[in-house]
Amino acid sequence: MLKAFSAASQKAPGPGQVRADEDLKPIIFLTIKERPHAHTFSPMNTEKLETTDMGEQLAAAQERMTRAAKVVGLEDEVVSHLCNPIETLAASVNIRRDDGSALALKAWRCRYNSALGPTKGGIRFHPSVHLDEVETLAFLMTMKCALMGLPFGGGKGGVEVDAHDLSTMEKERVARGYVRAMGKILGPDRDVPAPDVATGEREMAWMVSEYSEIAGAILPHAFTGKPVALGGMAGRTPATGRGGHIALEAMRDLAGLDEDGGLTIAMQGFGNAGRWFADAAAKAGHRIVAVADSSGTVSDPDGLDIDALAKAKDEQGKVGAYDGGNAKASDDPEQVLSTKCDVLVFAALGGVIADAQDVEQLDCKAILELANRPILPAADDALEDAGIEVVPDILANGGGVTISHAEWVQGRQGIDWAEEDVADYLEETVGDAAQKVREVMQDRDTGMRAAAYIVALQRLCAAISAHGTRADFGKS
Ligand code: NAD
Repeated sequence: MLKAFSAASQKAPGPGQVRADEDLKPIIFLTIKERPHAHTFSPMNTEKLETTDMGEQLAAAQERMTRAAKVVGLEDEVVSHLCNPIETLAASVNIRRDDGSALALKAWRCRYNSALGPTKGGIRFHPSVHLDEVETLAFLMTMKCALMGLPFGGGKGGVEVDAHDLSTMEKERVARGYVRAMGKILGPDRDVPAPDVATGEREMAWMVSEYSEIAGAILPHAFTGKPVALGGMAGRTPATGRGGHIALEAMRDLAGLDEDGGLTIAMQGFGNAGRWFADAAAKAGHRIVAVADSSGTVSDPDGLDIDALAKAKDEQGKVGAYDGGNAKASDDPEQVLSTKCDVLVFAALGGVIADAQDVEQLDCKAILELANRPILPAADDALEDAGIEVVPDILANGGGVTISHAEWVQGRQGIDWAEEDVADYLEETVGDAAQKVREVMQDRDTGMRAAAYIVALQRLCAAISAHGTRADFGKS
C-alpha cells in the first residue's frame, strides 16, 4: 500500500486547496482555479497585486510578469487569470529499493495554465525540488510556450530524489510510479511531460509505456523527449542547446556583443542543454573557455575541444577528467562564474545569481539563461547597473519545447518528420520569437526580458480575452 507523507514533511493545503480525500493514498491536493484568497487586484494597477499564500519563488517570478503587463497596460483580469495554477497534484511515489527496503518520495505535477492548449513541461528528479519550484517552473513554461507561439500551456513536474543514489531498476520504478500517481491529470490532450534535470530519453520510454498501460492505448504523443525508436524525434535532445545558440546569435547585437566574429563563452552545466549548446557554439566558431559541472570547473583560454570534453564526461562522469590542450581543472564548480568571457551561459539549476552581491563576481558582457530561472528578480537591477544584458530563459531555452511540439505533432500524424524539417522548424520558431522580442524592445524601449514577457502576455491575453472581458459582461 502506498504510504502517505508525514504531516511534518508535507506542506498543509492552503486555504484555497482541497485535500481531495484524507484516506486516499497518495494524498491529493487539488489547487482550485481562481482561489479567491490568493490575490486581490485594483483595476488597472498591477502594482497593487497582493499575494497571501503563494510560494516565494512563484511570487518573485510573477513580479516580472506584472511589470511587463504594466508597460503595455494589460487588463488586470488577464494578469489575474495567470496568477494561480489551474491544478497541482501532490503525491507520494512509493517504490521498493533493490535491497528490499521501502522508499517514499514526494512528487508533484502542476498544470499551470491551459489557455493556449494542453499543458507542457518537463519532469525533474532532484533532491531539492519542491511544490513552489514546480509551480514556478510551470508558470515559466506558460510564458515560454506563449512566446514561442506554440499551442501549449505550461506545466511541470518533479520528484524529490537524488537520481545518482538510485540504481537503473530503482529509477525505472520511480518513473513508472510517478506516472501511476499522476496519470489522472496527464494525457496527450491534457498535460504532456518531457525530460528535465536528471531525466532523459530512457525515463520518457518507461513513462510512456506505463501511461499507455493505464490508458489502454498506445499514445506516443503523451510524452515527448522519447527515444527515436519509440516515436521520439531525432533532434529533440540537442534542441534546447541548439535553440539557445540560435537565440544568442539573433540577439547578440542587442546583448552588447560584437556583431561578427567569435565570442568567448563560459558555461555552468554540461548536461542535456549545456553540451549541445557548446557543440553548436563551437561549430559556429566561438571559443568555450570554461565549463563547470557539479564536480568542478575545467578551463582553457585557447578553447576546450567539446567532442573530447563530452567523451571525458561520458566516460568518467566529470568535466574535470578532460585533459586536452592547456586545460586546467579545479574542484570548484563556482570558479566558472568569475571567468572573464563575452557570454556566461547558465545551463544547470535555478537561483544561481540571487542578488546584487552575486552579480559582483561576474566578469562577462552578457548572460544566456539556458537553465530555467538561474537569475532571480532581486539581481535584475544590479545586472542592469553592471551593463550585463541577459537573454532570458523563456527565449534562450525555448528550443526544447519547440521540438517537443514537433514530436507531439509527429505522434498525432503518425508520419515521421525528416531531420532537416526539424532543424528548419527550430530555426524558424526560435528566430521568429527573437524577432518579436527585438521589435518590442525597440517599440517600447524595454529590456530583453520585459519584451519577452510582453510578447508572451499579448498572446495569452488574446486567448483569455476571447472568452469575453469586463467590457462584454458589464461592471457587476
Ligand atoms: P542535466 O541534468 O542533463 O544537466 C545538468 C548539468 O548541471 C549537469 O552537467 C550537472 O553536473 C550540472 N550542475 C548541477 N549542479 C551544478 C553546480 N552547482 N555547478 C555547476 N554545474 C552543476 O539537465 P538539463 O536537462 O541539461 O537541464 C539544465 C537546465 O536547463 C535546467 O534548468 C532545465 O530546466 C533547463 N532546461 C532543459 C531543457 C532540456 O530539454 N533538457 C529544456 C529547457 C530548459
